[in-house]
Amino acid sequence: MSKRSAMRDARHQMVSAQLERRGIRDGNVLDAMRAIPREEFIATEHRPHAYEDRPLAIGAGQTISQPYIVAYMIEALQLQGGEKVLEIGGGSGYAAAVLAAIASHVFTIERIPELARIACRNLSAAGIRNVTVRCADGTQGWPEKAPFDAILVSAGAPEIPRRLLDQMHIGARMVIPVGDAPTSQDLIRVIRTHANTFEREWLTGVRFVPLIGEEGWEPRSD
Ligand code: SAH
Repeated sequence: MSKRSAMRDARHQMVSAQLERRGIRDGNVLDAMRAIPREEFIATEHRPHAYEDRPLAIGAGQTISQPYIVAYMIEALQLQGGEKVLEIGGGSGYAAAVLAAIASHVFTIERIPELARIACRNLSAAGIRNVTVRCADGTQGWPEKAPFDAILVSAGAPEIPRRLLDQMHIGARMVIPVGDAPTSQDLIRVIRTHANTFEREWLTGVRFVPLIGEEGWEPRSD
């Protein structure tokens, strides 16, 4: 069996064992997770572990979440297809690629220049053209492209950045890890139901790397 088809088999196995069995039901999300090759978004030495149930290092001290968390968060965004989505914390570009398999366009912001470059490279190597990567502080959002139908925050925030709430369409959803400690959070879904009304819902407990920026945590000085 070729390496490529072995990886495809491992990916399909991951989708049934780690996602469907644990309750991910959204057909768009399951199809997207079957379509996007996670191994192409991680360092070569980690590729044999691409479909294991765990986070992996992507460089610069950052990690890609376990596949289940990526699927869970994207399912919680309730995408139907055709949306304009903002992601904060682009990392390797993997979650953006999964989002882009469902949405019409994904704008992703990554604060570490080296990772923003890696994300661009991974996305173009995977042939994905409907993702735009920017290197900036994502807590300020992307005002020129707002409003968004959905926002995925892939790093843990001390509180929900005001600027991101302002950049949501009426009816838009945001999924964001929020907590008092930099590395352990509550995963929250926010729905903008009216211009000045935001409904918040607790989803589960998670552990993300910190969201660092003007409306996030301060960078560590050590
Ligand atoms: N979604 C990524 C994993 C994200 S890890 C993937 O699929 O690979 C979280 C990322 O958030 C890290 O790369 C970190 O550098 C980035 N990050 C932290 N604070 C940020 C901010 N204010 N703006 C943009 N990116 C930020």
